[in-house]
Amino acid sequence: MLIQNESRVKEYLPITGLADFNKLSAKLIFGADSPAIQENRVATVQCLSGTGSLRVGGEFLARHYHERTIYIPQPTWGNHPKVFTLAGLTARSYRYYDPATRGLDFQGLLEDISSAPSGAIVLLHACAHNPTGVDPTLEQWEQIRQLMRSKALLPFFDSAYQGFASGSLDKDAQSVRMFVADGGELLMAQSYAKNMGLYGERVGALSIVCGSADIAVKVESQLKLVIRPMYSNPPLHGASIVATILKDSAMFDEWTLELKAMADRIISMREQLFNALKIRGPSVSKLWMFNLLVHFLLIPLCQSVDHLSYHAETPGDWSHIIKQIGMFTFTGLNSDQVAFMRQEYHIYMTSDGRISMAGLSSRTVPHLADAIHAAVT
Ligand code: PMP
Repeated sequence: MLIQNESRVKEYLPITGLADFNKLSAKLIFGADSPAIQENRVATVQCLSGTGSLRVGGEFLARHYHERTIYIPQPTWGNHPKVFTLAGLTARSYRYYDPATRGLDFQGLLEDISSAPSGAIVLLHACAHNPTGVDPTLEQWEQIRQLMRSKALLPFFDSAYQGFASGSLDKDAQSVRMFVADGGELLMAQSYAKNMGLYGERVGALSIVCGSADIAVKVESQLKLVIRPMYSNPPLHGASIVATILKDSAMFDEWTLELKAMADRIISMREQLFNALKIRGPSVSKLWMFNLLVHFLLIPLCQSVDHLSYHAETPGDWSHIIKQIGMFTFTGLNSDQVAFMRQEYHIYMTSDGRISMAGLSSRTVPHLADAIHAAVT
């Protein structure tokens, strides 16, 4: 209603988008007290959601940056290699995920980044890595930062899930803020698709943190030259929604509460699925009877139950379900197991075994746990 009243006139936006939206977006990701913002070293342009921000950033680098190789994590969001290759960069990968631990291959990551040519671009997921749900710890981020700065590698952050990982917008931006705090340059692609539920509005921003205010002005001018022949200027409506929420403290507070509730619900789904897998037996009713037998007959008869393993767990270590972060869990299920679950249980996921935790509910967790149990036993 508010926006309808405000924006009855459907005028074009400038090439760089809605000025308020750009300022508020930079503040949201870098922090209100960011030295880069205070020193006017940030050039921000409104883009077509996260994808458009990555693409405009990629094209800008292909035209003006001296090193055209971008290192992307292995695995990563499927669109990354295509976006950057079509923008004119050469995409190479760095090790990220270790299937053995279902966690971060930190050593592999450091080795691969160390051997990148000086000046190369490195794509980093700001938080809630897609598809693995595996993020570096803050200590690991610090090591990555030191290594990258020592080799003059250029960070290109992709932030598609700010607020979704921990439930806190500031916490989810910590990795990025570490890199901004050292005074160095970086690119940042932001998306409001997930955290404001504005998928179809295509609202996002590309910010380039520069070495000086002077350079930021030149960078902005070059970004206009990238955008103008691509789509002239970005759409108005979604950016107005975001700017309205970000500048009104009551609406902003309401939004952060909703984000937290959503992130907490996802974390609770992780716990429920993990617990359900821990108690999965040959069948639920058999397990129930077995437990009854153990509790009422065997336990009273035994001095110690330490040696009695009466919980038939789903084989394997499923702790990664509660360790991973954000919307997605990389289950570790292989493509045969994924196909089995699709055929036998009508559970659908990507063939790499990635499930969206946001799509689960307390009602559907038992069915998924049954299916996973059957797939791995
Ligand atoms: N980056 C990552 C890591 C994503 O997962 C996504 C969406 N799935 C995007 C960028 C871009 O999304 P959008 O263009 O809808 O903002």
